[in-house]
Amino acid sequence: MAFSAEPTAAGTPSAALPHVATDADRGFLDALFLGPYGENDTLLEKLVVEFLRDHVYWRRNFHPEDPPAIPTNAAQQPGYQAFEARLRRELHQLSASLKRSVPFHSPRYIGHMASDLLLPGLAAQMLTLPYNPNNVSEDAAPVTIDLEVKVGLQLARMLGYPSDPAQPHCAFGHLTSGGTVANYQALRLALALKAFPVALRSAAVPDLELPADDWAAFNTGPDAATALLVQWQDWLAQQSPRERRRWREAVQVQRIEHLGMAGFFARHADLKVPKVLAPITAHYSWSKGLKLMGLGRAQLELLPERGMRLDADALEATLQCCERERQPVLMAVAVLGTTEYGTIDPVDAVVDARDRAQQRGLGFSVHVDGAWGGYLATLFRNPDGSLRALDEVRGGFARFPLPEVHAAFAALGRTDSVTVDPHKLGYLPYGAGAFICRDHRATALLAEAADYVFREGAAGPDVAANYLSRYRQLGQFVPEGSKSGAAAAAVYVTHQVLPLDHLNFGRLPAQTVLAAEALHEAAWRLARELDGVARVVVPFAPDSNLVCLAINPCGNTDLATANAFVRRIHDDLRCDPGQPLQLKQFFGSMTTLRPDAVGDVEMRRILGSIGIDPATLDPDGANDNDRLVILRHTLMNPYLVDHANGISYIDRYLAYLGRRIRGLLANRT
Ligand SMILES: *Cc1c(COP(=O)(O)O)cnc(C)c1O
Repeated sequence: MAFSAEPTAAGTPSAALPHVATDADRGFLDALFLGPYGENDTLLEKLVVEFLRDHVYWRRNFHPEDPPAIPTNAAQQPGYQAFEARLRRELHQLSASLKRSVPFHSPRYIGHMASDLLLPGLAAQMLTLPYNPNNVSEDAAPVTIDLEVKVGLQLARMLGYPSDPAQPHCAFGHLTSGGTVANYQALRLALALKAFPVALRSAAVPDLELPADDWAAFNTGPDAATALLVQWQDWLAQQSPRERRRWREAVQVQRIEHLGMAGFFARHADLKVPKVLAPITAHYSWSKGLKLMGLGRAQLELLPERGMRLDADALEATLQCCERERQPVLMAVAVLGTTEYGTIDPVDAVVDARDRAQQRGLGFSVHVDGAWGGYLATLFRNPDGSLRALDEVRGGFARFPLPEVHAAFAALGRTDSVTVDPHKLGYLPYGAGAFICRDHRATALLAEAADYVFREGAAGPDVAANYLSRYRQLGQFVPEGSKSGAAAAAVYVTHQVLPLDHLNFGRLPAQTVLAAEALHEAAWRLARELDGVARVVVPFAPDSNLVCLAINPCGNTDLATANAFVRRIHDDLRCDPGQPLQLKQFFGSMTTLRPDAVGDVEMRRILGSIGIDPATLDPDGANDNDRLVILRHTLMNPYLVDHANGISYIDRYLAYLGRRIRGLLANRT
């Protein structure tokens, strides 16, 4: 990526205000959240009281003939009153101490990936909590389990996956506690699919078209492996009950899930433990996942970046090397919105590389870690589900999306699975992550008990009905056991109120992109204003809604000195539980740029842009001189620009930063 050019529309501060297109947009944004000032308290209070009462009526109307179990005068008893007093005391204490929480709701908070909560989700979650549904199975959640399956379909549609359960190859998605567990599920499904054809071969199932050897079986690739699984299920269905049981058992004992890594690879000594290829910017959940799965951290191969994105040439070279060394690959990960920089990997190039490798006999899955950027896909989607062209998406933005970014989103439908976090850019309460796979038939391999039951017995001719009934035993397929039905209700209602297309939900991430562009532009004005005092640079143009700033006092050429300076600025921007919240002007976060992550060329360019001598960088150094410390800003808050009062918190933040930089430099001796 070229060094970002100076935006043209510089000038008056108001030029930085991201424009909200119409009055309708304005009203729309106003109703979405409780608001920085609690402006929508009446709306939320009305909803909470209304639906709490509704819940109580429901209890009473179950069997109104049953008398109240708690006596009507209970509240007058000393024990009751003492309990209530203790309860109140503790709640007051809790409420008081929670005032030290991080003010995610405030437009002065531009730190980590958190913001205000969408009212539809907050209200739906609070409404559902007293019913306490457990989405492990329909017995414990007759209502919310269907909502979770529908959430999976809503997200599938947003991503461009088949989302009609009447289609046999429809996608499937479910919620998890977060993106971390969704990434584990991706690993689990990819491994199950990879090893299954090997098990079929070992069991010597007759009549199936099985791969010639273990290498070919292990490299079948997700699509062909799913097709083989379906063939096997159809074949099983034709057997007598006794034969069916026998064959099922024969395959079961050959599966990696049965044998474990050690047993499986001992039995197939010609196969190596497969690798996971991920960009060096990948979230640490991937390292955790490989450890948890027993694949081993050594099997995680981190690929370099070029221009702040996964280097597709390096991926291709790694794949060719794997092929030569007969090193199997489990999956390639592309990140849609990196946690540190918000950059978008070339998903299109990754699926192209997968297709080419598949042709050469090296099969693997492609997973997109869109925990952060997944909901940006709404900007690329029409209400009818079709993809928007580059020029259509571009309308209204200064530079978003770059053609590379558009191509990455357009290719999502060709990937095998995706992680999306409703509790990040979905503005919903923790913990709500989601895992979505393109072809749901593969999940048969995850089922804990009675594998493949869904093709037999209960399955009728109605494909969509089979789909829904199958996933009503959600606990069979997901990593977790008991899980929150209230979270599923929150996500579902939000997606219903704000459908996942550019005209509805998409207007929210559009605001975040506009805010990022405004900060990018305002940074130039700050840079000019601090001319001769400090160098302020946006080190790489933002792909989405995270903007970083590199800062170096004028005259300094030493990396460690610049880092100490930025750390000092960040000290004032971070959460400090020992201080009253009100003393804090703004919240920001910090990250670092390392040559092994961004590449030497990029690193030199960035250091040079703020006047640091690249010779003071020591990749093996330990004195804070092995990396560049930069400020990082997540522009999620929808109220960063207050049109009614003519305030831009972005401008205010940068003015604050300017004062802070001058102040720190003035105090220096
Ligand atoms: C946040 C994040 C994760 C982890 O998600 P959690 O919800 O925190 O478990 C994984 N990958 C990326 C890219 C993320 O931004």
